[in-house]
Amino acid sequence: MIARTPPHLLGIAGMTQAEIVDLLDLAEGYVDVNRAPVKTSDLLTGRTVINLFFESSTRTRTSFELAGKRLGADVINMEVDWSAIKKGETLIDTAMTLNAMHPDVLIVRAPDSGAAKLLSEKVNCSVVNAGDGSHEHPTQALLDALTIRRRTGRLAGLRVAICGDIAHSRVARSNIHLLRTLGADVRVIAPPTLLPSGIETLGVTPFVDMRAGLEACDIVMMLRLQTERMRGSYVPSIREYFRFYGLDYAKLASAKPDALIMHPGPMNRGVEIDSEVADDIDRSVIREQVEMGVAVRMGVLDALTRPVLEGAA
Ligand code: ASP
Repeated sequence: MIARTPPHLLGIAGMTQAEIVDLLDLAEGYVDVNRAPVKTSDLLTGRTVINLFFESSTRTRTSFELAGKRLGADVINMEVDWSAIKKGETLIDTAMTLNAMHPDVLIVRAPDSGAAKLLSEKVNCSVVNAGDGSHEHPTQALLDALTIRRRTGRLAGLRVAICGDIAHSRVARSNIHLLRTLGADVRVIAPPTLLPSGIETLGVTPFVDMRAGLEACDIVMMLRLQTERMRGSYVPSIREYFRFYGLDYAKLASAKPDALIMHPGPMNRGVEIDSEVADDIDRSVIREQVEMGVAVRMGVLDALTRPVLEGAA
C-alpha cells in the first residue's frame, strides 16, 4: 500500500480502488512516452533509484531500470546472493548501508515474504516491493490490470481465471487483491496440491477442473510452477500436469471466444502453456504485458517521488 512519508509500494492488499485507478491512469500516460522516438524526461533528474535484487530477474529488473532511466534518474543495479546475506551481513545491514548513500527509491526483490516491508521500516527512502517470496508483486498486478483495461476498456465485471501454481505465486496474490478491489469476478484453477486451503476468503472461486474453471472467462492468466519455492513433490509429472492444467486450444475452448491469454513470465512452454497458444497473435497479450511493465513502473516512480518534489518546490 502507498502510505505517506516516505511513500512506499509494498503490496496491493490494503490499497483502495481510487489509489489503484490513480496509478493506472498515471501509467497510461507513460505508454505513449515509451512509444515515442525520444523516451526521456527530466522528472527524476538528480534522483537515485537502487534496484536491490536478492533473486535473479531479467524482466522486472530491466523494466525498473528502464523506467528510472527514462525519467532521468540515476539507476544503480545490485544483485546480491541471498545465501550470502543469511551467512554474513544481514538484510538490514545491507539496507542501512545503502540508506547512508541517500537513495530516493529502493526497489527490492527477495525470496522471503515481508522482506520489502521490513526494509521500509529501516530506511528513509521510498521502497517498492518487486516481489517478496510468495507474498506480493504489486507492479506485476498493476501492469496486468493496465494491459486488461487497455484491451477491454474495463476491469469491473470481467471474469478472470488465474491458473497454475496458486500456492507459491506472489503474482496470483497481488492480482487477486487488485482484481477483486476493482470488481472483477476472479477464479483460481489449480491441482488440489497447489490450491491453498481457505483461498475463498480472498473472494475468489476455486476450481480443480480447468475446463469448468475456464467456463465463459474473459481473461486467462497462466502461472509457472514455482519449483524454487517447492519443498517436495506437488505434481506427479510435467506430462501429467500439462495434460490437466496446461493451456491448449482444447481447454481454451471453454473460455469466451475472444478471451485474452496472459502470463507474467518466464514461460515454460509445454508445461503450463502450449507454445502455439502463447504465440497466438489474436489472443495472447504476453508481449504487451512486458510493454505495460515499463509504463507502470514509470508511473510508480513518478507517484512515489511526487510528494517529495512538491514539498521541495
Ligand atoms: N516473474 C514472476 C515473479 O517474479 C513470476 C514468476 O517468476 O513465475 O513472481
